[in-house]
Amino acid sequence: MQTYQLFIDGKYVDPVEGQWLDTVDPYRGEVWARIPRATAKDVDLATAAASRAMWEGPWATMSASARGKLLRRLGDLVSANAERLAGIEVRDNGKLYTEMLGQVRYHAEWWWYFGGLVDKLEGGVVPIDKPDMFAYTTHEPVGVVAALTAWNSPLLFVAWKCAAALAAGCAVIVKPSEFASASTLEFAALTKEAGIPDGIFNVLTGYGHEVGASLVEHPSVAKITFTGSDATGARVYEAAARSLKRVSLELGGKSPNIVFEDANLSAAAAGVVSGIFAATGQTCIAGSRLLVQNSVKDKFVEQLVSIARSAKIGDPMKPDTNIGPVTTPAQYRKVLDYIDIAKSEGARCVLGGKPAEGEGILGGQFVEPTIFDGVDNSMRIAREEVFGPVLSIIGFDDEEDAIRIANDTIYGLAAGIWTEDIGRALRLPKKLRAGTVWVNTYRAVSYMMPFGGVKHSGIGRESGVKAIEEYLEHKSVWVSTSKAIPQNPFVMR
Ligand code: NAD
Repeated sequence: MQTYQLFIDGKYVDPVEGQWLDTVDPYRGEVWARIPRATAKDVDLATAAASRAMWEGPWATMSASARGKLLRRLGDLVSANAERLAGIEVRDNGKLYTEMLGQVRYHAEWWWYFGGLVDKLEGGVVPIDKPDMFAYTTHEPVGVVAALTAWNSPLLFVAWKCAAALAAGCAVIVKPSEFASASTLEFAALTKEAGIPDGIFNVLTGYGHEVGASLVEHPSVAKITFTGSDATGARVYEAAARSLKRVSLELGGKSPNIVFEDANLSAAAAGVVSGIFAATGQTCIAGSRLLVQNSVKDKFVEQLVSIARSAKIGDPMKPDTNIGPVTTPAQYRKVLDYIDIAKSEGARCVLGGKPAEGEGILGGQFVEPTIFDGVDNSMRIAREEVFGPVLSIIGFDDEEDAIRIANDTIYGLAAGIWTEDIGRALRLPKKLRAGTVWVNTYRAVSYMMPFGGVKHSGIGRESGVKAIEEYLEHKSVWVSTSKAIPQNPFVMR
């Protein structure tokens, strides 16, 4: 069994208090590794190393072009190690190897993209309204960044947060989820191999309420970037406010996937299945509410159920598996609880609704793909994030009805629209309160496209050129060109 160490100041080290946590393979239900249980003492070491490296080390004086080359080299190394890293992620979170391999390969793009952006960030000369002044703006890194990530796509979140942060010139301390830390610890060695200076990339693992909370409160941390649930996000936001840190939050969702009668129903059915059953529903952008026009509802539900029923459940490493285990025992119980809640609320279970059993199903954390029809948007199953393979179907009459139901949620991460009407395809994205809207597709992401939510789904955006702003401070510099002494020093210039 592998025992991991923390990564601080370019070295793997034991946690100061010498404690470790077991990490469990969700498919086999077996402990496969131990990860360090870091505490406030390790936070002190990591923040000191990060501050030193960022403000005093070679990182601070390195040219932007040189920094960009290191980031691009890191992308090459991730790409070369993708199979190994993806295998570790599957061991940790039980998601499909095909999905994790795709994610880790794609992860490299963030380093190449932001590595290319580093030396294109320019300041500007302001055509200032005061004749005896030369004024310009420049940018600087915001400071040491704490990056807290969720268990469902650990390395993808490292890319989303850290590529932009390092491109901006920051140092980062990543705190992955206690349920899936191994891949981030393994990734750390690649930053060293790429030539990223010691102390610029650090990893602390352990419990959120211990090491996570200490990191959020530490005075040397300037910026928090968080991916997780809205409940934890609110706690992190509150704690960060006490020391006036900058915060960005990528939180949960209850995203509507809206199918109109004029849609290509076969394409829509495949899209709805991918929206809720891919990744066993454990994705922030899960299209967990299906809004379908009443005129085609019965026909559509029949098509949907037939695709979902054929999903192969089992070993996440096998290429023909469609649905793997739920990642943690607590999450598994939560999914089953929500199935009971939906039944007690009067929703009609048309598929699944129970633990999955059978050949190749080990570990006791599998749930059948589950579909509830006859859901009302006021039910808990339509309002609360399940984070599992459970779909709620809500009928609607017309476009206005669909928009009203879609927006009637505390969340606003994503939405899908299925229609062949070009006017509707262009009209609706503006009316939906969500950070991402997909038309005739679902679950597409790119390093070039901003990603994030509104309302309880978050604050700020990751990916795309503007994401770098999350990690920059702009500085205004005024230079007087006049030799004259100001006539009245008691008034503003
Ligand atoms: P979580 O909120 O339980 O934990 C997220 C991270 O915060 C973990 O690293 C955890 O250890 C840490 N943490 C917990 N308590 C903390 C505290 N008091 N102070 C500091 N850190 C603390 O979330 P999870 O269960 O790991 O992930 C599932 C959630 O993440 C879902 O709600 C999902 O929608 C959301 N999510 C959002 C996105 C997005 O990009 N919007 C992506 C994936 C997952």
